[in-house]
Amino acid sequence: MAPGTLMSETKDLPNTTASKILPGRIKQQESALLHRSLHKAPLEVVSASGHYLTTADGRRILDSTCGAAVACLGHGNERVHAAILKQLNTVAYANSLIFTSTAPEELSRFLVDSTHGHMARAYILSSGSEAMETAMKLARQYFMEKSTPESQRINFIARRESYHGTTLGSLSMGGHVARRALFEPMLLKNVTRVSQCNAYRGMSGHENTESYVARLAQELDDEFQRIGPDTVCAFVAEPVVGAATGCVPAVEGYFRAMREVCDRYGALLILDEVMSGMGRCGTLHEWEQEEVVPDIQTMAKGLGGGFAPVAAVMLNHRIVDQFIKGSGIPSHGMTYQAHPVACAAALEVQRIVQEEDLLANVRKMGTLLGQLMHEQLDDLPYVGNVRGKGLFWGVEFVRDKVSKEPFDPTEGVGIGIHELALEEPFSLSLYPGAGSVDGRRGDHIMLAPAYNVTEAEVRHIVDLTAATIKKFFEAKD
Ligand code: PLP
Repeated sequence: MAPGTLMSETKDLPNTTASKILPGRIKQQESALLHRSLHKAPLEVVSASGHYLTTADGRRILDSTCGAAVACLGHGNERVHAAILKQLNTVAYANSLIFTSTAPEELSRFLVDSTHGHMARAYILSSGSEAMETAMKLARQYFMEKSTPESQRINFIARRESYHGTTLGSLSMGGHVARRALFEPMLLKNVTRVSQCNAYRGMSGHENTESYVARLAQELDDEFQRIGPDTVCAFVAEPVVGAATGCVPAVEGYFRAMREVCDRYGALLILDEVMSGMGRCGTLHEWEQEEVVPDIQTMAKGLGGGFAPVAAVMLNHRIVDQFIKGSGIPSHGMTYQAHPVACAAALEVQRIVQEEDLLANVRKMGTLLGQLMHEQLDDLPYVGNVRGKGLFWGVEFVRDKVSKEPFDPTEGVGIGIHELALEEPFSLSLYPGAGSVDGRRGDHIMLAPAYNVTEAEVRHIVDLTAATIKKFFEAKD
């Protein structure tokens, strides 16, 4: 059947294994895969190349989000494929709790060197959730490695609007109400939360950036005091908040002020760069733009560009030195950590980012993306806020632009816009997020194109996004 030809009913299909598959949509009752929704069939992608995904029903979808901000080089890359193949033919797997090999060594060296000497070691894992889970455990271990262990340091202070992963530890750290809801009774009790830094939602009319930052620093200080300053292990934050609120960067000076509060009480600063790091915001590490160095940082998505599941935690010298003086061994370990094939893929992705100077393109195209989004979206009805950094931009929707009252999340505005965008004539992927039930934030969509996106593609992405939003609200009104 030619691409684009649609069969209306399953009975039209021949009685083979393939007959269980509808072009474009996998029949849920026939699928053995536990999908995100068991009620709604997912789109089937049959090939992915450059910045486009092709679905079984013949749609060519412009991937303006790199999946979940992952495929930073786009889809398909011969150099990365060759590096993976080479690694498979050299050492596909070696138990990293016992052995090492070239690819993990080279990747960790690359990562450490990329921090201008600030970080000392990289722990390589497979997902962002694992990285955050690992960061929490190693932060705790650091205080226990001291000659006089600080065993009372069991608390983490995170932020209300945040997402740090889906495993119980990382989920406990995040403040994403909907993702936590079902598991609330099982989540860690040693995580408390302060406000995120969000100029649109958090800054009051009479404040300027400086006084806003001072207020947030005071709030963090108060939280240290409330739970006991010497019980705090770390303050945890995403430099640019991703899934929870849709690309919200902090205001100038915020992270410097938070660092000062942490230093005042000897607590660690953990920056979750899983989504906003590895070049997404225009520098390899977002913290380079904040004039702040974390004690621990995590990274994932752009690290391997989706060619392999790979993530990392980096620890600074203060922590590693203590481990060396102490037990000398992280009390942590996973079967697939520092997987050679994943490391080889990530290493090649990072070489390409460097050799093709893609971060310069992220900055240039990011500036254009932001400018076009402001031009085309700011004045649209129901667009409350357009914000972002590098190639990481979000749009927040509100029922009332003046009061900033969000839509009821059950109306499904973010997801509705995303679903409409996938349909023809738009054929565009957008990354949606729901507003909070407590009215603290609205639905949003995020854009996160590949680092090698062209100017024509950026223009096309914004045109399609604007057209989708207009059509969605016309139909809704
Ligand atoms: N931290 C942040 C900031 C994220 O955006 C995510 C995922 O979106 C995670 C952690 C969890 O990463 P993963 O889905 O790879 O487990």
